[in-house]
Amino acid sequence: MEWLSLGAIALLSIIWAELVRDSYHVLSHFWKPLYRLHQIHHRVFRTDLTVIDEQLYRRSQWQNDVPECGIMLLGSLFPWLLVSHWIAFTGSVYALGFLLGAIARGSGLPYADALTEITHRPGEFTAIPGQWRVNRPYHWRHHFDSQKAYYCSTFPLIDKLFGTALSLKKKRVAVTGASGTLGKAFLEALRDRGAKVTAITSKTDPIILDDETSINTLTWEVGKETELADALEKIDILILNHGINVHGERTETAIYNSYEVNAFSSWRLLEQFLKTIRNNEDKVRKEIWVNTSEAEVSPALSPLYELSKRTLGDLITLRRLDSPCVIRKIILGPFKSNLNPIGVMSASWVAKQVVNLAVRDFRNIVVTINPVTYLLVPVKEFCVATYFKLFSHGAKGE
Ligand SMILES: [Zn+2]
Ligand SMILES: [Zn+2]
Repeated sequence: MEWLSLGAIALLSIIWAELVRDSYHVLSHFWKPLYRLHQIHHRVFRTDLTVIDEQLYRRSQWQNDVPECGIMLLGSLFPWLLVSHWIAFTGSVYALGFLLGAIARGSGLPYADALTEITHRPGEFTAIPGQWRVNRPYHWRHHFDSQKAYYCSTFPLIDKLFGTALSLKKKRVAVTGASGTLGKAFLEALRDRGAKVTAITSKTDPIILDDETSINTLTWEVGKETELADALEKIDILILNHGINVHGERTETAIYNSYEVNAFSSWRLLEQFLKTIRNNEDKVRKEIWVNTSEAEVSPALSPLYELSKRTLGDLITLRRLDSPCVIRKIILGPFKSNLNPIGVMSASWVAKQVVNLAVRDFRNIVVTINPVTYLLVPVKEFCVATYFKLFSHGAKGE
């Protein structure tokens, strides 16, 4: 027990040191005198993360990284004042390591940058943005996607807290099933966050939101997914939200339509979208969100709806194993819509919650009144993903 609490204090002192550093970074973007010091860090890298000028790089270390790590070191003394035990110095030793790294880079020591700069190395991205650890793709977005988001250096805690783990500003977002109640609510919630929204629907009329604004609308029908190929090139975030509910039907047509619309058309659009991901920028800017529904883990009193939505959910879990971009699942409980007049939650509330959780980088977004779903989803997702990982593989040579 003694060792356990010592370990916990050591870990917390490190997390505390990171919180101090990230808070200083946030402040640097909001307080002019600090931004004057910090801006050099944003000027020194090209979009491929190569350094523009060696002298400027070294100056950026003295002007930005050294003071930032200095503040981190100073702040790291606080846990020691709190518990007066030597173990609380772990955070200070950790911060000192970063300070020495910054001094070495500022002095132009050979290999110092290669050894100590983890998030600014050039080269192709081999991973998607980390969910719990800041990696190169994660940090790249702070430099070139939005400087008013992605502030964290190591653990994205502050970004999750402030909702800056995903910036929607100026992102081109397309929503399928856009003529439905939830589709419209998504368009509204995303537009309110600064996204440029596009509606994708099987209806021919342009989508008009409640406040009378007309939305850029693409008409599409199930089975003709390839016709959207050109349009998807220009989309950053694709939200697959269309679906049908045949309720109690169990005819051949009902089976065919349920799987075609709910599972396979979504999967085909997903594959079409993944083909548009070619370079580093696509890998970190592009995302897919898929509305797989609570039917993935619990009954929806509509067997074919459950069967087809579970198929979609499992296909997403499988495809996520080697996806070149972030894929989020949206798992919703019953909300009020034209299809479901007795739903408890309102569609606009649900859409806002989904966006709230997405900007905190939840990869499985659960919004429901059923507490069991919150417990079942992570367990099911972990077990199924592990099983798929063990008994399947990606394309050979990948
Ligand atoms: Zn940086
Ligand atoms: Zn910055």
